[in-house]
Amino acid sequence: MKPSARIRGILDGGSDGWEILARARAMQRAGRPVLNLTIGEHEDPTPPRIIAAMGDSAAGGETRYAAFTGKPELRAAIAARAASRTGAPVRSEEVIVTAGGQSALLYAFLACLDPGDAMVVVDPFYATYPGTVRAAQGVVRLAPSLPDRGFQPDLAALDAACDGARALLINSPHNPTGAVYTPETMAAVAEIARRRDLWLISDEVYDGMVWRGAHVSPRGLPGMAERTVVIGSLSKSHGMTGFRLGWAVAPEAVATLMGDLALNATYGLPGFIQDAGLFALTRAGPEEDALAAVFRRRRDLAVETLSGRNGIALSPPDGAMYVMVDVRSAGLGGEAFANALLEAEGIAVMPGESFGQAAAGHLRVALTVPDDQLADALRRIADFAAARAAAA
Ligand code: PMP
Repeated sequence: MKPSARIRGILDGGSDGWEILARARAMQRAGRPVLNLTIGEHEDPTPPRIIAAMGDSAAGGETRYAAFTGKPELRAAIAARAASRTGAPVRSEEVIVTAGGQSALLYAFLACLDPGDAMVVVDPFYATYPGTVRAAQGVVRLAPSLPDRGFQPDLAALDAACDGARALLINSPHNPTGAVYTPETMAAVAEIARRRDLWLISDEVYDGMVWRGAHVSPRGLPGMAERTVVIGSLSKSHGMTGFRLGWAVAPEAVATLMGDLALNATYGLPGFIQDAGLFALTRAGPEEDALAAVFRRRRDLAVETLSGRNGIALSPPDGAMYVMVDVRSAGLGGEAFANALLEAEGIAVMPGESFGQAAAGHLRVALTVPDDQLADALRRIADFAAARAAAA
């Protein structure tokens, strides 16, 4: 029996971009120490008060089917947060709770694309985007953002790529580069979406992690709320990756249709997970601030550690929990560099190529280990790059 072309096509016959992590894990299983700077996950456990809220909820009986579009209190809390972050009013009916931001992306793509419709994706991109577009039977069209522009999108190329497309996907603060779109970039993106009558999917899962400038949501710009779907998540903001709690904010009619998907895909999230999320959003402000402070500090540490080093360049990230280092002068592609670094130094980082071609020759370093280990790893990466550059 043959599986459907739809599911066979998700990876487009290529890789999922995470090979280096698989290699690092295999090395660890074989007993070699590896410092893992690949995956965007806090090294500390979820804040205890959030876990306690989950436990209390489960013990109190919230282990049965819960509202599949999200419990009303949680949708209201998400609406309040999204209103303050996007600068435009949000009603609960415009919110749908999903299994992580990842399912919200899939739901948004399924809601906005018919089979064969083009979605424009800014390159470099979060690694799952192309597969998720293909899972929704859309066609990915790439538009570059370039290192020498601080990874802001090339607006002329973006506009051209949007010709005849149905939707545009952006992500600010940005994974993998840490770029935060300026108000001018965001206004131009919104103008393209309006002029070309596009859906705009705005992945804002890092909206609370902005180190320079300010987060601008396109949903708050004139004429945008009716064509924008905002993706949010508690994974990064509250150290809750494994809870799988995210959401989409969309025009009510679209959010309602996404509810049909939720009904048929998951039948909703566990009530005790939703209650943990409600606690996180309404009571765990101090924990959220403390988590963000760690990444702000490590971002500064990374910039300081790498400044003035030979063989390596860094566009200082304005947000998120990564730094993107440029090792092109080593004369290896990012993939070959990352593999050689893993082999020689036992340090695992993501090659830029895992996120598209615009970041080729770069490495994404997740700021997810204690400061001393991070600084040591960055120095070793810089030494390795300098040695390779000298030999090149
Ligand atoms: N969008 C971006 C840009 C991400 O980096 C991630 C996770 N790394 C997600 C969405 C999905 O996050 P989750 O499903 O854990 O909410």
